[in-house]
Amino acid sequence: MDTDFSISEEADTDWAKHAICGGLTEVFFGPAAERPERRVERERLAMSHCMVCPVMLPCRRNARLNHEHGFWGGENDEERAAAGYAPRSPSRRSVIAARDLAFKEGRGVVYAEEPDPWVEAS
Ligand code: SF4
Repeated sequence: MDTDFSISEEADTDWAKHAICGGLTEVFFGPAAERPERRVERERLAMSHCMVCPVMLPCRRNARLNHEHGFWGGENDEERAAAGYAPRSPSRRSVIAARDLAFKEGRGVVYAEEPDPWVEAS
């Protein structure tokens, strides 16, 4: 997958309004315990949208930096994990394996911890 994140500033901040996948949540996010064959078909359909989407790169960048789950910017969880941006709580063994290999090979990116909402900032 392309890892060139060089995008315009406008696209970086305003890309979502150009997304072509509105209303297609079930295509980009699978149900719990989705059968592998079903996931392959669903992600193939998702990819067909991403490949013609004008904001694929900023979408991918956003998903990687936020360690998202689901299909974003032409990447599934395994592909994002292999690039070093694993989802925060991967459940599939294939995603965990891709994440661990990325760290072993020096590509893993540790996400910033969320601030604890119960601790007042000083
Ligand atoms: S690249 Fe794919 S997931 Fe991202 S906005 Fe476009 S269609 Fe949606």
